[in-house]
Amino acid sequence: MKIRAPRGTNDILPQDTAKWQYLEQKSKEIFSTYNYQEIRTPIFEKTNLFQRGIGEDTDIVEKEMYTFEDKGGRSITLRPEGTASVVRSFLENKIYGHAQPTKYYYSGPMFRYERPQSGRYRQFHQIGVEVFGTDSPAIDAEIISLGMHFISELGLKDLEVRLNSVGCPKCRADYKEKLLDYFEPYLEQLCSDCQNRYDSNPLRILDCKVDSDKDFMADAPKIHEELCDECQEHFSEVKEYLDLLDIDYQIDATLVRGLDYYTKTAFEVVCNELGAQDAVFGGGRYDKLAEEIGDRDVPGIGFAMGVERILLALEEQGIELPIDREIDLFITTIGEEAQKTAFRYLNQLRKAGIKVEMDYLDRSVKGQMKCADRNNAQYSIILGGNELEKGVATVREMKTGDQEEIELDNLVAEMDKRVE
Ligand SMILES: [Zn+2]
Ligand SMILES: [Zn+2]
Repeated sequence: MKIRAPRGTNDILPQDTAKWQYLEQKSKEIFSTYNYQEIRTPIFEKTNLFQRGIGEDTDIVEKEMYTFEDKGGRSITLRPEGTASVVRSFLENKIYGHAQPTKYYYSGPMFRYERPQSGRYRQFHQIGVEVFGTDSPAIDAEIISLGMHFISELGLKDLEVRLNSVGCPKCRADYKEKLLDYFEPYLEQLCSDCQNRYDSNPLRILDCKVDSDKDFMADAPKIHEELCDECQEHFSEVKEYLDLLDIDYQIDATLVRGLDYYTKTAFEVVCNELGAQDAVFGGGRYDKLAEEIGDRDVPGIGFAMGVERILLALEEQGIELPIDREIDLFITTIGEEAQKTAFRYLNQLRKAGIKVEMDYLDRSVKGQMKCADRNNAQYSIILGGNELEKGVATVREMKTGDQEEIELDNLVAEMDKRVE
């Protein structure tokens, strides 16, 4: 085989697509009960959308984007995440002129040039929500609860909500000063990335994986203890709403999102089986992002969840999704005439919504029976010369072995009654 799929991509084969379909279907069902509506944005966007919407000095924009020049000489990027596109669309289509809030969900592939490893792909898939037009703390609690509802419904256990507030540009300015003072004596002990972050983005030192275990990290000033009155009030209301919904959470001071347009609530939901750094979903408030992308002051909040991670967590917890892989009926035929008659009934049965299959490879009767087994058929129909003469079909229930003859003229109606 000379041509292989690009590194970091994978084919999702039918044995797995059934799980994907189940997951997508479930998310749509649940999200719509919270009155979220689906939005579909392009897979690629102008590169500068992500430069502004994700931030120039993030790993994603610096190292991980699939950026190319199209034939018209424009710089185009395959979307590395969903939020920037949804904000762009909200602004471009002037949805802010409608009654608010706007509650969206999306799902689809994202692209990042990362080192492929278990559970991480260069084309990966996310399901996410975004809400615009309100900074009500009730919405912060609502999206956490919505995400929890969805993954709990799938059967996932051992989930932990981690919560923080990153304040607003106002309270963060003072906080940054405190951080700089605090880390100054430890500058030499920080990793080289953090030594750069000290000048460019000191908040990011707090979520550095390399430095996280160093002694001095534990006593670093915590943003949620340095909030301005407004942010403080918002944070306690988010917690109050979560309490109302009986959702447990841990305050996690290392949940910082280092860019100015991230505001107030930040959260992550981790599944303990996956290991600490692997959140099943995460997100937060970005009240200044619409201003960054489109010069318009619109509060927003959202989360994104990794579909591959959810599937991995389900697997690790040994959870089987309730997927129906059975067919209702398999038609076994003997002889050419029976085969042609069967083909006609096959069509009628399918139009009646019955999931039915037959043999196309001229297999022996024994071979066809095996096919019926392989397809987990609930019933098998046998059609041969005898049956044709009498105008009947022999119908066998596979589980019990019970057999009966049904008149061909009534076959569709009778089978429709029998199949579940
Ligand atoms: Zn503030
Ligand atoms: Zn570091």
